[in-house]
Amino acid sequence: MLTLAVSACLLGLPTRYDGTGKPEQSIKDLQQEHRLLAFCPECGCMLGVPRPKIHLELHNTAVRLIRESDGADLTEVMELFAVNEIRRLLLSGVTGFIVKSRSPSCGVTDTPLKGGETGGGLFVRKLLEIVPDIPITDETDWRNPEKREAFLQTAEKWIFRR
Ligand code: SF4
Repeated sequence: MLTLAVSACLLGLPTRYDGTGKPEQSIKDLQQEHRLLAFCPECGCMLGVPRPKIHLELHNTAVRLIRESDGADLTEVMELFAVNEIRRLLLSGVTGFIVKSRSPSCGVTDTPLKGGETGGGLFVRKLLEIVPDIPITDETDWRNPEKREAFLQTAEKWIFRR
């Protein structure tokens, strides 16, 4: 049995900015065999549900997380939350992450970055800074059976070295 961290909205929890979830049935089905720990960085930062949209911007060479309604810079808030949440999840035995694509917090490679190239969301950037080799996939890659199997096999072998 694996312990996996999953973006809460992919499990159908209503955590998105508009109060909806984005359930992915094949990810929910994993609960029959594995232990899934839901996490939501934006709820964890107390941004509320529903909440104004946020996006990533490039300021000089720094990636910043900006709230669209008032221009507030949420970068430090998110990074502080991420460090504690990532530690909590890893110490709970998590050996892989399944995350929501294109999210300014959870995306892996395809989150839009204003003024720069698409890349990871801020939470995932921090995750890969702390544990660069952690197995991670998003729901788009998850739908590909070969990529899904490769992810599960890697998560089975991965060990958190402190
Ligand atoms: S994509 Fe991430 S931050 Fe956004 S609702 Fe889902 S879990 Fe929360």
